[in-house]
Amino acid sequence: MPDADTPGPDEALQWLVDGNRRWVSGRLLHPHQTVARRLAVAAGQHPLATVFSCIDSRVPPEIVFDRGVGDLFVVRTAAQTNDGLIQGAVEYGAEEAVTPLVVVMGHQRCGAVTLAVDVLNNGTEVPAHLVDVVEALRPAYEAAAPLPGDQVENTVRAQTRLTVDQVRGDSLLAPLIAGHRTRVVGAYYSLDTGCVEFVLP
Ligand SMILES: [Zn+2]
Repeated sequence: MPDADTPGPDEALQWLVDGNRRWVSGRLLHPHQTVARRLAVAAGQHPLATVFSCIDSRVPPEIVFDRGVGDLFVVRTAAQTNDGLIQGAVEYGAEEAVTPLVVVMGHQRCGAVTLAVDVLNNGTEVPAHLVDVVEALRPAYEAAAPLPGDQVENTVRAQTRLTVDQVRGDSLLAPLIAGHRTRVVGAYYSLDTGCVEFVLP
């Protein structure tokens, strides 16, 4: 169970909001990136959030939230596609390490979503396990297909929404969420501005 020093979900979210503001403005603090911090967390960790986001090289969570060692659990897959192993990793962060916040973050011009949209629109063939990525994105593709506007961006946002729903519905996490011990939020990262928009608070 969290002790008195453990931040709550709202405090953890505010730390991420503040860190992202520093990233957007370029006034970075680079917190918790010293040898002293490394030594301080060597024996135990109390991260303030789990961030589940895309593998994209332009969206590293520790950097876009200006955090350091021991601050975040980070789970990354192509277009934050989910499965049992991934969900288990998110569960681990929330249940075993008691992180008070889970952020599911999609991003602008996601390459994996762009690929899936192309494949599903045009019947393009993809090799090997990229088929699995495309199939994992099919529900978001179908949810976004009727919407006006940019199909890739709509699919990114649908994928975030569906993944948030999956995480919120997790049998282990749902009671933690109901007890306000853990909060799950959706987010969208702009490659152009560096800004994280929390879209599903
Ligand atoms: Zn991506």
